[in-house]
Amino acid sequence: MYLECNIVKEGTPSLNEKCEKIKLPLSDDEKSCIKQMYEYLIVSENEELSKKYGIRPGVGIAAPQVGVNKRMFCMNATDFLDEKKKKYMYAIINPQIIGNTEEMTYLPDGEGCLSVTRDTEGLVTPRYYGIKAKAIIFDYKTEKCKNVTMELYGYPAIVFQHEYDHLDGILYTSKMYKVDELPVKAIPLYTVEEDEENEEDE
Ligand SMILES: [Zn+2]
Repeated sequence: MYLECNIVKEGTPSLNEKCEKIKLPLSDDEKSCIKQMYEYLIVSENEELSKKYGIRPGVGIAAPQVGVNKRMFCMNATDFLDEKKKKYMYAIINPQIIGNTEEMTYLPDGEGCLSVTRDTEGLVTPRYYGIKAKAIIFDYKTEKCKNVTMELYGYPAIVFQHEYDHLDGILYTSKMYKVDELPVKAIPLYTVEEDEENEEDE
């Protein structure tokens, strides 16, 4: 599992480079990388374990954040606005966003990132409310790959777009704005209640 100290931080040039497409079958190194990223998210979900290993909680992690500039990322987003609190946990290879809703949204508390350690509170990043994507899903248990077309809406769609941007060398910090200075029309994903803080990072 990658530890917090192995996470590539903002300011490192490789984080701003476009990542390479992966050729299947996965090499042993690629397999090990995607599994370790997946494990990072499993551990980070567990308060006790994340303390033990000293890792920052995250809902997504992309290969360039662990020094591998290849098109893969893992996400573990629980749709907290959904009644069933559905979990969207995937290890994703060569994703391609092939469609999006016109409607745009943003997390009113702003985004966070394992690679960004400075405070970006008060600034938000507009994202498509919904996306359609083609990707290869890596099954952590069987190590098999499968082609899928997926549609995501709301929070999981935001997490996906944040990770997808990493593969193109884009950090959310390069597209964050004050709410009243947004360059596009976007509505907040939810209303912020006082005393509530979301401390998870992507
Ligand atoms: Zn990030």
